[in-house]
Amino acid sequence: MTRVALNILTVIILLLSGCCDANRKLLVFLIDGFRYDYMDDLQNLAGFREIVDNGVKVDYLTPDFPSLSYPNYYSLMTGRYCEVHQMTGNYMWDKDTMKEFLIGTNPDSRLPMWWDGSEPLWVTMQKLGKRVYMYYWPGCEVTILGVRPTFCEEYVYNPSEKNLIDSMESALNMLKSDKADMAGIYYEKIDVEGHHFGPHSPEIQHAIRSLDQAFQTLNQKIKEKNMRDDINVVLFSDHGMTDLQWMEKVIELDNYIDMTHIIKMMDRGPVVSLWPKQDKFEEIYQNLSTVDNMNVYKKQEIPDRFHYKNGRFVSTLTLVAEPGWFITENKAKLPFWKNGTEEAGGWQHGWHGYDNEPFLHTESLQSLQISSCMLMLLFTTHFL
Ligand SMILES: [Zn+2]
Repeated sequence: MTRVALNILTVIILLLSGCCDANRKLLVFLIDGFRYDYMDDLQNLAGFREIVDNGVKVDYLTPDFPSLSYPNYYSLMTGRYCEVHQMTGNYMWDKDTMKEFLIGTNPDSRLPMWWDGSEPLWVTMQKLGKRVYMYYWPGCEVTILGVRPTFCEEYVYNPSEKNLIDSMESALNMLKSDKADMAGIYYEKIDVEGHHFGPHSPEIQHAIRSLDQAFQTLNQKIKEKNMRDDINVVLFSDHGMTDLQWMEKVIELDNYIDMTHIIKMMDRGPVVSLWPKQDKFEEIYQNLSTVDNMNVYKKQEIPDRFHYKNGRFVSTLTLVAEPGWFITENKAKLPFWKNGTEEAGGWQHGWHGYDNEPFLHTESLQSLQISSCMLMLLFTTHFL
C-alpha cells in the first residue's frame, strides 16, 4: 500500500469509523492538479485560510507513479499502489481483449476490468450499508466489484464553478438530512488552467482565487446550516504541474525508430507506453536507449520504487521523460500543437506525469515542484 495514500485512507477511515465522533459525516474534495505551493499566499486566500486555521494542513503530498490523474485518483481512494489497483495510466490498452481505456468519457473506460483491481472507499462504504453521494467524480458511474454509489452525478469535462457550488449545496443537504454518510466532489479547472497556461501564469492565479471564493462559500454554508459539529471535510489533490516551456523540449520518437514496428502506443507526454512487434523489440529498445532526456525500460527493468511494473496493463516498453520534456511520435501529429493559432506552442504550457521522486536523494524543497500536491484536513471542532 502506498505510504501517502495509506496515510490519507487511514485518516479518512478513522474519521468515518467514528474514532472521534460517531455521528460525524464526511465531505471529500478531489481538486485535480493543485500543486503543493498554489496556496502559499494564504493571506489572500480567505477560504483556504479559514480551513487551515480550523484544521490541519500537510506541506505536500507525493503522488504515485505515474503522477497522472486516474492512477492517483485510484491510489487515493484504494490506498494501493498502481501496480496493485491496476489503474496504471490515463490511457491503457489490454492486449488480450484489444480494449482501450481513454481519459474522459470513452464508454470502454467504464468496463469493470479497469476498476476491479482494488476496492475504492465508496464501494467499501456501500458494502457496509452506508450511502455515498458523488459529484463529477471520475469512476462513480462505473459498477466496481458489483457496486455503485447511492448517487453519482456523472463526470463531464471541466465542471463549472456553478457545478461546484451546486454540488456543495446538494452534498451538505444530503449529509444534513441523513440521506448520505459521505459525499465526494471532483473539480478539474485547476488542472485544465495549469496545462493551458502553466503553473506560474496569471490564469492559474485567477483559477485559484475563484476556487478560494468557492471555499469561502462552503465555509459560510457549513455555518448557516449549523453543521460545524456534524461533518469533517478533507481536501486533496492528485498531482502537481511542471512548466513545459513552450513545448520546445519535445522528443519525437520517429527520429529514432520506425513507428510501423509499433503495434500500439498509448499516451504522449512524460510517460509513453509502447508495444513493439516481437521481432523488432530489441532493435527498438536499443535505438530508444540512445535518446537523451528520457529513459526506456523493459517491463522487468522498471524501478521497484515506481510500484508500477507488475500492473497487468503495463506495456512491454515504458518511456519516462525527464521533468519538462514531452515525448510524442511527431510534433506535427499533435492535435493541439498549433491550437488554431498557426504558432507552435499555442496550447499546453504545463504537464505532469513525471518520475514522482526525481530528486529522491536531495533535501531540496525546490524539487517538490515537479510533481507534488497538497492535502488538507478540516476538522470543524478540535479533536485531533
Ligand atoms: Zn492533467
